Amino acid sequence: MSYLALYRKYRPVDFDDFAGQTEITDSLRYQVKTLSFGHSYLFNGIRGTGKTSMAKVFSKAINCLDPQEGNPCNRCASCLAFENNAQMDVIEIDAASNNGVDDIRELRENSHFVPAGSKYKVYIIDEVQMLSKEAFNALLKTLEEPSKQVVFILATTELHKIPETILSRCQRYTFRRVDQAAMVERMEYVAQNEGVEYEIGALKILSDHAGGAVRDALSMMDKTLSLSQGRLTEQAVRTSLGLLGRERTDQLLSAVFSGRIDDAVSEIDDIMREGKEIGNILEECLDFLRALLMTKLIPNRQRLEQVVSFSILDFVDNYREVEAGLIQQVIDLFDETYRKLRFASLPRLSLEMALIRAAQMGHGMEQLEVKKVVEKRKIEVIKEEAPVPDVIQPKDVPMYWERMLRQIREDGHQHLFFLLSEGKIEKTENDLLSLKFEPGGEYYVKNLQDPEYQKPLRQAIAKVFGKDMRLIPEAEKAPEPETQELSDLDMLKAFVGDVEKLKIK
Ligand SMILES: [Zn+2]
Repeated sequence: MSYLALYRKYRPVDFDDFAGQTEITDSLRYQVKTLSFGHSYLFNGIRGTGKTSMAKVFSKAINCLDPQEGNPCNRCASCLAFENNAQMDVIEIDAASNNGVDDIRELRENSHFVPAGSKYKVYIIDEVQMLSKEAFNALLKTLEEPSKQVVFILATTELHKIPETILSRCQRYTFRRVDQAAMVERMEYVAQNEGVEYEIGALKILSDHAGGAVRDALSMMDKTLSLSQGRLTEQAVRTSLGLLGRERTDQLLSAVFSGRIDDAVSEIDDIMREGKEIGNILEECLDFLRALLMTKLIPNRQRLEQVVSFSILDFVDNYREVEAGLIQQVIDLFDETYRKLRFASLPRLSLEMALIRAAQMGHGMEQLEVKKVVEKRKIEVIKEEAPVPDVIQPKDVPMYWERMLRQIREDGHQHLFFLLSEGKIEKTENDLLSLKFEPGGEYYVKNLQDPEYQKPLRQAIAKVFGKDMRLIPEAEKAPEPETQELSDLDMLKAFVGDVEKLKIK
């Protein structure tokens, strides 16, 4: 049996199947029941909210031979023909691909014909905003002289592109984003029907990320099920959506709010290695921050739980000291970073800078001040202990390098500090410092060449090493493919083997 995507399998078959959109289903069902429906409809709303499905159910209902309280019966000849795609009188047109005036002219000719075997001929025109001006004019003529047995259902995601003359002739329905409760209810129905065990938290996460579109929620559910061998747990959903999860978001943000920049940055490093998307990380941070802000603003626990999508109360202890004003500032900062992400040349750097800036705001800053004093003292002690000699011995280079890193950090260049500390200082030749990164470390090398960092770097080097030295960052090359190495090794072995044989002789 071929696999059918969940969103196809669970396409609504009657008005009761729709998640949300109750005002629309109530109205259409009533019109079918009382035979009071019109000739032209316009369904407007974002993608994935059920416009086309609604158009199909409505077409089926008005043609049903035995409608049940306005719903199609799904048993009569007309309904069955519909389910088998054999219903000749319901014609779907995708205006995105049929935007020619000829198609609409043809439609105009044909629409005067009586239905082939049904009560009504229905034209569903998807993405109607894509029609050309001429095609709209032809459509308008058709709508102006409606035939009794023809119904038009136009669907659009961009209402503002529809001419006023068309709008004024249609009954208009606006499809809303489906809210979480309705979405979760629909997903529960699907999961139960599929015999899948699920955690309600998993469904809530899916709903959060579906942006109000049931189709997207079901597609993500499909993806999760196929990746997790049919288990619909919170963890499985997070993995399939590439999400961090609340615990790790909490680790990251509590590091930020307590000014532990190094922890925050290395946490990001771990997260990046797992292949998470920067955009997703920021989204999760924002969602967490929003929930955190709500705990400061809404003291009533019940009302709080209505407005946040997860139990933030499990995490609030780490943020007791953090004030609402600071959270707002950090939200603004992350939000701005998120919006600019598309244009960022190095998205990872944008994220790191946002974390560093956030850590420096308010509470975090005080901690940095304390750290500065401590580090300053340390450096003074080192300076007293070991004055810089004129010629630094290669073996002493790492010690001075460490001292220089502290200097950079003390000067407040946290990201530069982070970049430098990932490398390994190897040797000096005259006035050259060579900083080696592991294979794949091009990111650090590229960042270290940023003009913004050159001045603080020169200054710190001059201060600690006592003279100007040039730093050469370099990423090591990945080893050659194994087969090459093996053959070299084999040759060597063969050679050594020959030598041994010679010796024996
Ligand atoms: Zn029927």
